[in-house]
Amino acid sequence: MADFDYICIGGGSGGIASANRASRYGKKVAIIEAKVMGGTCVNVGCVPKKAMWYGAQVAEAIHRYAPDYGFDVSVNSFNWKTLVESRERYISRVHNSYDNVLARNGITVIQGFARFVDKNTVEVDGKTYTADNILIATGGHPIKPDIDGAEYGIDSDGFFALEAQPKRVVVVGAGYIAVELAGVLHALGSETHLAVRQFAALRHFDPMLSETLKELMAEDGPTLHTQCTPERVVKNDDDSLTLHFQNGQQIETDCIIWAIGRAPSTQSLGLAEIGVDMDEKGFINVDEYERTNIEGIYALGDVIGKVELTPVAVKAGRLLAERLFNDKPDAKMDYNLVPTVVFSHPPIGTIGLTEPEAKDKYGDDIKVYNSEFGAMYTAVTTKRQITRMKLICAGKEEKIVGLHGIGFAMDEILQGFAVAIKMGATKADFDACVAIHPTSGEEYVTL
Ligand code: FAD
Ligand code: NDP
Repeated sequence: MADFDYICIGGGSGGIASANRASRYGKKVAIIEAKVMGGTCVNVGCVPKKAMWYGAQVAEAIHRYAPDYGFDVSVNSFNWKTLVESRERYISRVHNSYDNVLARNGITVIQGFARFVDKNTVEVDGKTYTADNILIATGGHPIKPDIDGAEYGIDSDGFFALEAQPKRVVVVGAGYIAVELAGVLHALGSETHLAVRQFAALRHFDPMLSETLKELMAEDGPTLHTQCTPERVVKNDDDSLTLHFQNGQQIETDCIIWAIGRAPSTQSLGLAEIGVDMDEKGFINVDEYERTNIEGIYALGDVIGKVELTPVAVKAGRLLAERLFNDKPDAKMDYNLVPTVVFSHPPIGTIGLTEPEAKDKYGDDIKVYNSEFGAMYTAVTTKRQITRMKLICAGKEEKIVGLHGIGFAMDEILQGFAVAIKMGATKADFDACVAIHPTSGEEYVTL
């Protein structure tokens, strides 16, 4: 008889969610975690990032908006260390709460790095554990470019380990992490440069979003450098760094943050040895039920490289447990219409098809509604901030197939609209809903 009904390798968003759900059905469950319980999201991802973003919001409120609201504020200093300590205190409370829930659910927590011995057996520090079902939820890790001097730069994990605020920083990359970290550092007062290889950051998002972000960066910073592919990094005698780009440009700085993407953590797990199918980048191939090609072995979350977001890993983990242990053979993750927010300045919210994607899919049979206005929060202030919103509708019935926005509170506005869109809402359904005034969100029902 196996030691466990279910072993989850990786105590991150997906592994913890799946283990807790399996325990609800009386199963004997273990989680194996190599580093710190909570995984990327809690320790070096969403949670510390959002705390830093809130810090940046406070800085913007003080410096940019407080005077026009009548506050005569003088700031003596900003203490990076205090913000980091407050953040870490919160994270340690999250750790405690995870420990309590896992203990209450009777889940065995095994600390160490897991390797497969065979399809039902994993080994951790010389001890073996068996299970009928094994989940691989080992997530991913940041990568650095293959150029001379790359080692002088840090990655997002290194950003969260910074004990002092860099005076000058270059963030390299064009995705969520680059935009978010550059925005935070800029708002907190670092001289911040964002270097992207192509014409814009977030170029795969709806063009309205990436173009608006570019405009806002041109007005307020950080300084955006386009067409800049890193070539090499030189460490100078005074310990500063010079980042050279292939186009001949160079920037001298105190800190370089690589935010050029992440790779799946599938090395040294023994996957190839037991024949688990992976793609050329090391992401695990699974079917629509998160099954690998080996019976009894499943994978989900960042390690499968589909949609790398915490709630996706959590939902997929819970649904897998429902399927395996609660007799719900059809419960499966739907990767369509996943809402997502980029915590930029201001935030971006998006769900569904971009306008180019909608054109590809529906041709001329789409109708696009746009809106642009100054966020009311900034209406009474000298420094105004733009909000832009877009609805993309398809067919005669004007089914909403894409909703995008950038502006104040967009991060909080999106969730409710995502429910409606997931239910198949049409433009007429949006119009039938009475607006809440005065808010930014009301714009979506009055377009
Ligand atoms: P992870 O959370 O990465 O967990 C995997 C765990 O497996 C890790 O703890 C790791 O130590 C462990 N592990 C790896 N190999 C082994 C092994 N062999 N044995 C034992 N343990 C092992 N998503 C959002 O939805 N919103 C956000 O705002 C957001 N912000 C982010 C900000 C940053 C800077 C980053 C990097 C990511 C962010 N994400 C965000 C993405 C989110 O963090 C991930 O999608 C999510 O954590 C994936 O969960 P997971 O369970 O697949 O993997
Ligand atoms: P992404 O894959 O989203 O973006 C990285 C980008 O960097 C690429 O798209 C590419 O853009 C650019 N890039 C790639 N290689 C190089 C290179 N050698 N030199 C310069 N630029 C390069 O990765 P991230 O690390 O930003 O984020 C990983 C995932 O984590 C996200 O996709 C998201 O799912 C999740 N996440 C979610 C957050 C949220 O929900 N708010 C926040 C943070 C992360 P281009 O091709 O345009 O140059």
